[in-house]
Amino acid sequence: MLEIDGLTVTYASTVEALRGVTLKVANDGVVAVLGSNGAGKSTLLRAISGTLKLQHGRVTAGRILFDGQDVTDANAAAIVSKGIVQVPEGRRIFGRLSVEENLKAGAATVRSRAERAKAMANVYDLFPVLAEFKTKRGVLLSGGQQQMLAIGRALMSSPKVLLLDEPSLGLAPMVVSQIGRIISDIHELGTAVMLVEQNAAMALSVATHAFVMELGLISLQGPAAELAASDEVRSLYLGSDSKEDRRPALMAAAESGRHLSRWSA
Ligand code: ATP
Repeated sequence: MLEIDGLTVTYASTVEALRGVTLKVANDGVVAVLGSNGAGKSTLLRAISGTLKLQHGRVTAGRILFDGQDVTDANAAAIVSKGIVQVPEGRRIFGRLSVEENLKAGAATVRSRAERAKAMANVYDLFPVLAEFKTKRGVLLSGGQQQMLAIGRALMSSPKVLLLDEPSLGLAPMVVSQIGRIISDIHELGTAVMLVEQNAAMALSVATHAFVMELGLISLQGPAAELAASDEVRSLYLGSDSKEDRRPALMAAAESGRHLSRWSA
């Protein structure tokens, strides 16, 4: 269980980007964090992944616990070794390396050759298109395939928690749905997911629990299905001028109660 407890983060000693944020990601959960630009979503991911320092940010109050252990001040390498791996926004893959070389880079911390081979086979099972293009250079893949490669690379170390930063950004609606299905598959295979998204429709359709952030605060939270059905989220994030085409599928998922019954935290 990943627990964020009253977390406040400040950049350059002046900008308070998070203000007492509390949330949990259960070991068997997919948690969506929604919010508009500047809400603090990326800051939350940076705090968890130990990369705040790179941006001159620091935790000024609260703490982050993973399986009961305080990891608030752990550095990025220590966080990865504990099993928390982030897929950064903008699918930063190695464009000049092949698909397979990119995946191998994701397993740099895995000592056992057998484990690396197993992880590679699992990734190819999950993303057949990556197996098909294993010798192709990353730069030659489509945007959706690059996103799959970025996720696949993160999965190579068999993380316990996968942090996804806006995986749908810049992708066509059909590819966004595909990414959504892959996130569900990853969850089914036993990895917890924290999904930061501006695409609320996709996020709520795959999440078990969701949090809405505004100006560094959690303004709304609950089972994803309940949030998807709430007037507030529907008008703010699923409004008629955005994602209208995805609403029926989302609402069908919400009405089935699937997410409600699976949330166990
Ligand atoms: P976006 O989707 O636009 O990235 P976000 O929800 O991820 O938005 P953050 O990037 O976490 O939001 O930003 C939260 C607040 O912190 C904003 O006010 C932003 O201007 C500020 N901020 C983010 N990064 C820095 C930084 N490196 N230095 C100073 N302020 C920052």
